[in-house]
Amino acid sequence: MRVAVPKERREGEKRVALVPDVISKLTRLGYEVVIESGAGLHAQASDELYQAAGAAVVKGDVLSGADVVLSVQPLAPSQMATLKKGAVTISFLSPTTAADSIDAAVSAGVTAFSLELVPRISRAQSMDALSSQALCAGYRAALVGAELSPRFFPLLMTAAGTVTPAQVLVLGAGVAGLQAIATARRLGAVVSAYDVRPASADEVRSMGATFIQLELEALEGAGGYAREMTEERAAKQRELLTPYIAKSHVVITTAAVPGRTAPRLMTQEMIDAMEPGTIIVDLAAESGGNAEGSKPGEIVMTAGGVRIWGGKDVPSQLPFHASTLYARNVVNLLTLMTQGETPALTINFDDEIINGAAVTHAGARRIPEVKAAE
Ligand code: NAD
Repeated sequence: MRVAVPKERREGEKRVALVPDVISKLTRLGYEVVIESGAGLHAQASDELYQAAGAAVVKGDVLSGADVVLSVQPLAPSQMATLKKGAVTISFLSPTTAADSIDAAVSAGVTAFSLELVPRISRAQSMDALSSQALCAGYRAALVGAELSPRFFPLLMTAAGTVTPAQVLVLGAGVAGLQAIATARRLGAVVSAYDVRPASADEVRSMGATFIQLELEALEGAGGYAREMTEERAAKQRELLTPYIAKSHVVITTAAVPGRTAPRLMTQEMIDAMEPGTIIVDLAAESGGNAEGSKPGEIVMTAGGVRIWGGKDVPSQLPFHASTLYARNVVNLLTLMTQGETPALTINFDDEIINGAAVTHAGARRIPEVKAAE
């Protein structure tokens, strides 16, 4: 049984699906591991390190002979077409943005798993790549805020007088938001946060930050995620948050609703009310932006002197650890599907995790078609 890792093809993608550290877990299960030469270049995983860890490194095609293909981004339709019937792929195969790859997996008779669809139950936590990558993004967001800000984050008592700490506001306190809070706190900032899910309040406080309580209905949806808000509630939330935003030196936004465009938390008017020199770090820039005017991969300077950093491929900005955590997630998922010593790959749809994450199998689609996010 051959597990293959191709080089990531999408520009800006610096992660790799397996790192040398985890190769032995697969070879011990009886898998043969083949890595495309150069696949780990950006993640400090050289061809030599893969070979030393027990993988074969091949120049060129690794897909045609593979039983299992592991990647970060979904395989392109042309890559799916080269796989053998019955092969398994594991990647971030988004039902909203990778419809072509899903169609190609159906045509090729491939069983394609999406890490975005792994159910968020405790047994699946070690396979939860959404969380591991959000962790990297949240950490990075706090560092970006600290770096762009013209101020210190910590309180400093110096011979030249006292420096007051930066006020950091985090909007959206899920996995990325909590990590941004923790990182900003470690740097010494005074942090406050808001989320539509009341359950996040205790988590925010446990990180040493203040939870902002607004007189608004909660929006807790299924699976611990938020629900989309009505325009009326969105407007009220923006109004109530305006004074908190206006007194912040750095605002980090991480709000998302699965499968939807990111909620608009900050309008131009609210941004214009911020002091010149303040910073917005918008982690949701790629999915529509929490802050009006944010652009993925760019720093936009407003007329009022506020800089808005738009996140693009943010976990890829920490390629070593993002890849290390991702690799552990995919190996744990593959291990769940592996039985015996030969090894035997067993796709057991009675298992809630396997059933939830499988997008295609045996020439059929297993999940309904989803229209692109509006
Ligand atoms: P996400 O990336 O979908 O959203 C990020 C955050 O934005 C969420 O906390 C959400 O409530 C918030 N948000 C959405 N709309 C908002 C708005 N209008 N204003 C302010 N905030 C808004 O979520 P995520 O970080 O992937 O996960 C969310 C939660 O799911 C976690 O905090 C956790 O409770 C739960 N979770 C459970 C497991 C598990 O049990 N295995 C794993 C991961 C996450």
